[in-house]
Amino acid sequence: MFEYAPAPESRDIVDIKPSYGLFIDGEFVDGTGAPFKTINPATEETLAEVATASGEDVDRAVQAARKAFGVWSAMPGSERAKYLFRIARIIQERSRELAVLETLDNGKPIREARDVDLPLVAAHFFYYAGWADKLDYAGYGPGPKPLGVAGQVIPWNFPLLMLAWKIAPALACGNTVVLKPAETTPLTALLFAEICRQAELPPGVVNIVTGAGETGAAVVNHPDVNKVAFTGSTEVGRLIARNVAGSGKKVTLELGGKAANIVFDDAAIDQAVEGIVNGIFFNQGHVCCAGSRLLVQESIAEELLESLKRRLSLLRLGDPMDKNTDIGAINSSTQLARVRELSDIGEAEGAERWSPACALPERGFWFPPTIFTGVAQSHRIARDEVFGPVLAMLTFRTPAEAVEKANNTPYGLSAGVWTEKGSRILWMADRLRAGVVWANTFNKFDPTSPFGGYKESGYGREGGRHGLEAYLDV
Ligand code: NAD
Repeated sequence: MFEYAPAPESRDIVDIKPSYGLFIDGEFVDGTGAPFKTINPATEETLAEVATASGEDVDRAVQAARKAFGVWSAMPGSERAKYLFRIARIIQERSRELAVLETLDNGKPIREARDVDLPLVAAHFFYYAGWADKLDYAGYGPGPKPLGVAGQVIPWNFPLLMLAWKIAPALACGNTVVLKPAETTPLTALLFAEICRQAELPPGVVNIVTGAGETGAAVVNHPDVNKVAFTGSTEVGRLIARNVAGSGKKVTLELGGKAANIVFDDAAIDQAVEGIVNGIFFNQGHVCCAGSRLLVQESIAEELLESLKRRLSLLRLGDPMDKNTDIGAINSSTQLARVRELSDIGEAEGAERWSPACALPERGFWFPPTIFTGVAQSHRIARDEVFGPVLAMLTFRTPAEAVEKANNTPYGLSAGVWTEKGSRILWMADRLRAGVVWANTFNKFDPTSPFGGYKESGYGREGGRHGLEAYLDV
């Protein structure tokens, strides 16, 4: 066996400052809350100290956004588009720097940050830049109006991509924003703030406030915020929905998932195996639409499991900055504890746990790729969102049983179907209660395509023409 030679990406391209302030009204300013540290989850090394925005700071940010709304919303769409195109181009120019910073702060493999996250981030800004002067033709009648100030709270799994999903459509429609990144991954949002300055975006159009849940609550509960956009856990989503009820704020919630990836006996097995691996081990399984429940037709279950195990033993876990790494670090010690706990419960409830032989680095937060077999639908490993590299495998005999099992979840964000038969894909897609159904592929994203959930996965759509509706008064 040949070993791969190490191929580390250099971190010299990014200049991480020892401390960061908040980005309000086009300036970096101190926060009045107690600063916190953000660490590299692969090494536990402190990367920087970051300001916490208090309620008072959030108020200043909302005021700046309100003032800027007058200028920004009155600007012709074709002018707003120029700024968005400029931001998109700067993101492309600085993509290596952004990808390295994302990997250092988040723990995801550089290969993914570089080849998936960053191209999609730029694509989102390009796509919505194109809409800014065509809103009259978006299907919402002539001259649709923006909502005002958008308060946006995002998670740590795709820090910059979630920022793009939130900021690009908001700005294209003429809104201004106050965005709070997750407390474990604030750095790329702060670099984005620098890009806003570089693009000479009018001050106050984008404001970035850092901090934990309390800062997020101050953003979404602020009385002068007109629109709330949240991505994160169902628990916090529920809390937000309760808190803003009756306030007149327009809300979109992108919450958890427990997607079924369904493999029929006529599927191309090798392709399905690649799709299953991509479905659950991409981004360490920190993906709301991850294919965390594998449903396999009984007649091929044994053969497929064997191929899957063989493929898993070839995955390379380790230094996220190495260009050969497939599986990086778990984002935080808290998340690692959750993945461990749910896996232990899986075993205690009677499912069988398997991981390939793989050495875990001594420092940092790591979890090996894991498969559970002998899983019953009632097991927590089949019901709860693990948000880690853990796959629960179940079997089915008929298409009707596959649909029944796939829909037996409180969530409904995504699903995957693997079969040679086009008619069966359509039959399944009609019956699966999921916002996105992938056929013979998984985890494919495109800015032109709407994304969002059914049931406890939230409401509203992001992406595509549909994504404009969330930021227009329609
Ligand atoms: P979380 O929902 O607690 O955090 C997401 C964001 O919301 C963060 O920016 C956080 O600071 C903020 N927040 C927390 N409390 C808030 C409040 N009361 N008001 C406003 N904002 C608040 O998610 P987490 O703790 O990062 O992860 C917990 C679980 O959530 C994970 O195990 C996973 O199952 C799920 N999750 C889902 C997604 C997704 O994309 N659907 C993303 C992250 C986490």
